[in-house]
Amino acid sequence: MNQNEVVGVAVPAVEMIVGGQRVAAHGGARFEVRAPMDNALLATVPRADRADVDDAVQLAREGFAQWWQLSAAQREAVLLRAADIIAAEGEQRFLDTLIDESGSVITKARHEIRYAVDLLRTAAGEARRLYGDTFPNDNPERLSMVLREALGVVGVISPYNAPLSLLTKMVSFPLGAGNAVVIKPSEETPLTALALGQVLLDAGIPPAALSVVTGLGSECGAALSGHSDLDGLALTGSSQTGIAVGQAGMRYMRRCQLELGGKSALLVLADMDPVDAAQTAATGIFTHAGQICMANSRIVVEREIAEPFIEALVARAESLHLGDLRDERSHYGPLINQRALDKALSHVQGAVEGGAQLLCGGAALRGLVMQPTVVLEPPRDCELWREESFAPIVSVVVADSLDEAVAIANDSIYGLSAAVLSRDMPRALSAARRIHSGSVHIGTHAFQSNALAPIGGLGLSGLGRSGGKYSTEEFTELKWISLDAPRS
Ligand code: NAD
Repeated sequence: MNQNEVVGVAVPAVEMIVGGQRVAAHGGARFEVRAPMDNALLATVPRADRADVDDAVQLAREGFAQWWQLSAAQREAVLLRAADIIAAEGEQRFLDTLIDESGSVITKARHEIRYAVDLLRTAAGEARRLYGDTFPNDNPERLSMVLREALGVVGVISPYNAPLSLLTKMVSFPLGAGNAVVIKPSEETPLTALALGQVLLDAGIPPAALSVVTGLGSECGAALSGHSDLDGLALTGSSQTGIAVGQAGMRYMRRCQLELGGKSALLVLADMDPVDAAQTAATGIFTHAGQICMANSRIVVEREIAEPFIEALVARAESLHLGDLRDERSHYGPLINQRALDKALSHVQGAVEGGAQLLCGGAALRGLVMQPTVVLEPPRDCELWREESFAPIVSVVVADSLDEAVAIANDSIYGLSAAVLSRDMPRALSAARRIHSGSVHIGTHAFQSNALAPIGGLGLSGLGRSGGKYSTEEFTELKWISLDAPRS
């Protein structure tokens, strides 16, 4: 790291990682990384373009040959070392960066660090499980076997909202399966990604097998997703980006695993205690200011308990502590940038103009921190109801039957996650089976994670699944080999 003079103040110039080296972009361009909480300039990083991506992909091809040659146990050991480094040094390496760069409160930042360790350990175990198969051949003299092999070079394009844990998941499973990776992190959070890249190199990933190229989505991201020499691509991001990345990948018939946006529904059934339900619902939407793909931004409540539930939800929203990011009591911090705040505010305004009732919030509290916002009965054609707001805003609608509640939940182009709050298991399970979604959680909110779970969505929420063995399936390919092997 060297020092740069930007607007008269010394800020670190942090270089990207290509083939184990800290390098600037070929063209020398840089961009600023700022803290969403107070707009402080944290660092400048290289603004990589096509030439930088070419270098990283070419090196990754060599890196793949080295990494895939190792035994599964050796790859497992490297990932376990990475987990151990984060377990021992996670606070020093990541905590301040996560808080400053992504605007995370300290409790969420710590959760990301712990989850990163869990993901690396899970991916290390998966590295050993590249099981193949055999099957009977028509000709009894021949033997057929099926091998599971790494894809080769995988591009990884990550979002800003959980910059450590999501990126760890996106990288560790492809690596465990034997792939080389080229990472393009969100332009909002490159510092966390570079710190993770350093951990993985320190743990023993061959330098050529892992690069982190920092840049903008339209330049560096597009260059990576459109690269002709990639074998697979993982994107976690918005549905709009997913469509662009998927189209680019189809040119080369490339495996694309896409984890995209959501507009998750939480059903609150009449048997619930309204105050308990409101508490759970609030956690599911207001965590990290609603900047969670699985946040339950739509709530459908049965009429019998609608009034006390809504009252308790508003009371809970208004009681949230929105203080300093390093204060353990703070629930959430700022939205990532002005564009995100403007979009959120315009979603609320559009809903209210369409006849919705604003029950609380609806404005910025200070800077990019938005008030927790509850909107009652938005029109079904407004952006707030249809589009992902990625903000601390929840729409509540009232249903008169379970059928109606399920139909409302399914009124979405997305299908990432959903939840049903009820103790009446037959009713809850019936709803869960009818909701069009990649996951449905009963008795809790829609924002759930687990290193082994198949995370992914239907519709515009994406393609494929990540986590545990499901990631291994995404980032490996099957090969049928047959040979003469007489039995007598
Ligand atoms: P985004 O789509 O704007 O950006 C994601 C990444 O794609 C960034 O690295 C960006 O630089 C890159 N990118 C942008 N345009 C590109 C292009 N044309 N070609 C290639 N790369 C491009 O998303 P974001 O705002 O960073 O993240 C928020 C979104 O991510 C939300 O929609 C959220 O729901 C989604 N998300 C989904 C999951 C999930 O598990 N399904 C998890 C977290 C976030």
